[in-house]
Amino acid sequence: MKLLLVYPPFCTPTILPYSLASLKHFLKTNLDLEIDVLDLNAEFHKRKFAQYYKRVHETKTKEEYAKLFQEFEKESREVYAKNNKAVVHGENPEYFQEIFSLIHSNKYDCIAFSLVYNSQCFYATALLKELQKQNVTCILGGPAAKGKTLGYGTLLDSEQKTLDFFTEKGVQKKQANFYAADNPLDFSDFSQENYLSKERILPLKTSSTCFYKQCTFCTHFALVPYKEYETAWLENTLKKNNAKYVFIIDDMIAKERLLVLSQICKPLQVEWACQLRPTSDLLGISKELYSGGLRSVSWGVESGCQRILDLMKKGTEIQAVQDVLKESHEAGVQNILYIMFAFPTETKEEYMETIEFLEKNKEHIDLVCTSIFGLQRGAKAFDSPKDYGILEIKESTRTILQGNVTYVVSQGLGNEEARILQKKVQHRIDRINKIPKVFKCSREQVLLYK
Ligand code: SF4
Repeated sequence: MKLLLVYPPFCTPTILPYSLASLKHFLKTNLDLEIDVLDLNAEFHKRKFAQYYKRVHETKTKEEYAKLFQEFEKESREVYAKNNKAVVHGENPEYFQEIFSLIHSNKYDCIAFSLVYNSQCFYATALLKELQKQNVTCILGGPAAKGKTLGYGTLLDSEQKTLDFFTEKGVQKKQANFYAADNPLDFSDFSQENYLSKERILPLKTSSTCFYKQCTFCTHFALVPYKEYETAWLENTLKKNNAKYVFIIDDMIAKERLLVLSQICKPLQVEWACQLRPTSDLLGISKELYSGGLRSVSWGVESGCQRILDLMKKGTEIQAVQDVLKESHEAGVQNILYIMFAFPTETKEEYMETIEFLEKNKEHIDLVCTSIFGLQRGAKAFDSPKDYGILEIKESTRTILQGNVTYVVSQGLGNEEARILQKKVQHRIDRINKIPKVFKCSREQVLLYK
């Protein structure tokens, strides 16, 4: 049986697609399948934004590098919006025939769509509609495989369902281990010239899910047992792919594992970035991590108000957060902070407490990434709304994406009030940033901003 894995437009084309590499690895390890992969997102961008791909290698300074991404971000945002609108109106997006022809649907028994971001669902819908007309079997997977796209293919949302789907079609199972040291992940399907980055940045996952799983706003973590991938497998993946820059995509990494990663990366001279919760157990290891190649951490700080942190069940203490940021900064690591405003019941005073927290610690902060809380199906705050002062939840339907959730709170800032307030204080946040804001959308690129 011959299978094609595709990654549809649109998401930032600055890093290799982890989902395609790991899905191919999983299927190859477990099934006797012939598999090709196709990053249609990269194919679209290479065509539409050819001048940026050329310029990215000509930039001489970090300022020029940031400027290029600023221009790209502005132009691409408009292109994505225009094309998504076209799909909503039943029209084909740009380069559709050319992109569709790359699929060569007659060569395959099945086409699998990997949907990681909601923004991929629009172009994917146009492709899926066309494949449906040709009676091609399509399967869908990934965190964004929701909403109307599900009408065009079979959803396979677990490893077991995926294996069952193929074995029921007569594909033979294989007995191999995904994480065996001699079976590392292989990124050789992805040519670096397809990616908008002056160096190749490898995405890597080191565990199955977040081990904490408590934050009451969160729907990121997979509902599977926590499993740390074998050290030898990680090391061989870095070696096989000749990795120099790595973005670790785990939602969280435990302290002991951070130390293991730095031990693996140090002799290979790999520079890496990761995402962490600023807890006090991390104090005392920053220098060792820096010497093991850690260059940037995106911290889930969320708020500068302890009541809100406790309501979020973030499991962090304000004082420890400040200490962790200070130590990390002094070790030479870039600190990027995730801040979430307007968690249900947050007052204006508590909102401003976060701004004051950021200003107080500005010396140790490189970039602040803000968002306004959005209630999501599956989050603890969605399942027990009363505990968070949420009086009413409404879901409206959308053309392509899953329904939009809105809510009414008994006290504190509403989303609109938070948005207005954010506009008023944005200049104070901008004054803190040392890294250009454009890298919020492609955080792995901060590894090259030097
Ligand atoms: S926000 Fe991060 S640390 Fe908290 S549960 Fe989600 S993935 Fe885990």
